[in-house]
Amino acid sequence: MSLMTGAEYIESLRKLNTRVYMFGEKIENWVDHPVIRPSINCVAMTYELAQNPEYADLMTAKSSITGKTVNRFTHLHQSTDDLIKKVKMQRLLGQKTASCFQRCVGMDAFNAVYSTTYEIDEKYGTEYNGRFLKFLEMVQEEDLVVDGAMTDPKGDRAKAPHEQADPDLYVHIVERREDGIIVCGAKAHQTGSINSHWHIIMPTIAMREADADYAVSFACPSDAEGLFMIYGRQSCDTRKLEEGADVDLGNKQFGGQEALVVFDHVFIPNEYIFMAGEYDFAGMMVERFAGYHRQSYGGCKVGVGDVVIGAAAVAAEYNGAEKASAVKDKLIEMTHLNETLYCCGIACSSQGQQTKAGNYQIDLLLANVCKQNVTRFPYEIVRLAEDIAGGLMVTMPSEKDFNSATVAGRNGETIGEICNKYFAGRPEVSTEDRMRILRFLENICLGASAVGYRTESLHGAGSPQAQRIMIGRQGNIQGKKELAKRIAGIEK
Ligand code: SF4
Ligand code: FE
Repeated sequence: MSLMTGAEYIESLRKLNTRVYMFGEKIENWVDHPVIRPSINCVAMTYELAQNPEYADLMTAKSSITGKTVNRFTHLHQSTDDLIKKVKMQRLLGQKTASCFQRCVGMDAFNAVYSTTYEIDEKYGTEYNGRFLKFLEMVQEEDLVVDGAMTDPKGDRAKAPHEQADPDLYVHIVERREDGIIVCGAKAHQTGSINSHWHIIMPTIAMREADADYAVSFACPSDAEGLFMIYGRQSCDTRKLEEGADVDLGNKQFGGQEALVVFDHVFIPNEYIFMAGEYDFAGMMVERFAGYHRQSYGGCKVGVGDVVIGAAAVAAEYNGAEKASAVKDKLIEMTHLNETLYCCGIACSSQGQQTKAGNYQIDLLLANVCKQNVTRFPYEIVRLAEDIAGGLMVTMPSEKDFNSATVAGRNGETIGEICNKYFAGRPEVSTEDRMRILRFLENICLGASAVGYRTESLHGAGSPQAQRIMIGRQGNIQGKKELAKRIAGIEK
């Protein structure tokens, strides 16, 4: 089997026994849960678009393992062209969902783990790369979603993993057996973890010898014994539980998802272990995964940005303000910022290079510059969108009021009629459509979707300081000093 449809993907989730908790309770049918389902629909779009011949070039690739056509989300990048197509695919998906479609973390993990295991084997004579390839072949063949899980809870940030008061604050090996290892710990704010068939675990920071038990990478099924997840709540998420909710949801169909993934003595058989104690390679795996995911943001956030810009333009039109030069200028500024992010995503891809293992790695400096810009520009884009939309975006009554038959006016006018009268914009636009676009902007600027567009832009793929450290390391200030000295006539 290769290339599932969106519907087949959703059905495949029902076969899993993934343990999910939300609002303090176990959720039995999480696939149909109104809070979770939009995030599943979002991942399903990565399958649906791959079925569409119009997008085949972006959404699919020829497997370097089997030569078969696979979903690009399971592909090892074979060229800079592949890296560029990855970013274009992510922009496309951002445009279609206006959300985080979650599947990129697995793709970025595949590429980072593949090249790192090759170099571990080269140094230590281990067999990690071959095991990983076998695992990836299954993922490609079955067209699976895999959560690339890196971020540990980290506890006291001033202390190394082995120094923590509670050793579980970083995922670690608690027992080594002939046939595998037993791990404990957790990974925090894991994108799409519940919607994934499998997980790939990676270390979260560079490590020293004393942290060898924490230098661990492996794959495990999402419903492995001892594994469970606690759903991360989002702003306004309970609106999804309101009966008949529609307009007030803003983005009813799609959404992102994060969860705490807990490993309570999970057994990992040898065939799925990709690092177990080679602490000197933890930093390489982190740097490569983070580099790929920082590139990713030059695609996905740009696609969502396209939708935000479009929504702001529609809101201006519905208000009768679209011809105002100030509005036009704000839309130009938003477009400029958004396309700058895209330039960064394309640039770090086009300057990519082949790894020792054979797949392609992005230019690390440019990928970090890309993500650093992503920590800022979506905030400015959202500010301008809110400026154009006007205050009604956050002061409007609920859709229940707009639909209410309760009489309030002297002449028998209902609450619904009164809302429709006073919140009308241009006469040719229905008040409902005006509400829809404003609620959509509310959702993306400060509601549930703001997780994916705003705060994730800041902290996802590493917080701003993590990129600044990498920019400091990769920026070659010494080389730049020499350039200046030479031209200035300074000899030493
Ligand atoms: Fe993909 Fe963007 Fe979500 Fe990361 S934040 S998983 S790159 S959509
Ligand atoms: Fe992310």
